[in-house]
Amino acid sequence: MLSRAQEARVREVLGSHPPGTPPAYCLEHLAARTQIPVAHLADLAAFVRNLRAYGACQIRYGGICDAGGHETGRLLTSGPPTPIAIQVVRDLG
Ligand SMILES: [Zn+2]
Repeated sequence: MLSRAQEARVREVLGSHPPGTPPAYCLEHLAARTQIPVAHLADLAAFVRNLRAYGACQIRYGGICDAGGHETGRLLTSGPPTPIAIQVVRDLG
C-alpha cells in the first residue's frame, strides 16, 4: 500500500500539467518523481490502475516515457487529456 502522502503526490504529478497532451511516465520515473521507493512499484501500478478506473489518469502499454525520454514496452501512465476537475477546483478556490 502507498501512504496517503505518496498517493497525493501521484495525483498531483499526473493532474498538474499544462493544457494539451499530458506527459507519459513509466512506473520507474513516476516513482522517482513522487519519491516512492522502487520496492513499491507494484503498489504504484495498482494505484494508477485504480485512478484510471475513476478517469483520473490514462494508461497504455508501450511507447515513449516523456519523463525519461526513453522507449518502454511496459506500463505508461499520463494524466487525463484535460485536467477539468483541477481547473474547477481552482476557479472555486
Ligand atoms: Zn521512464
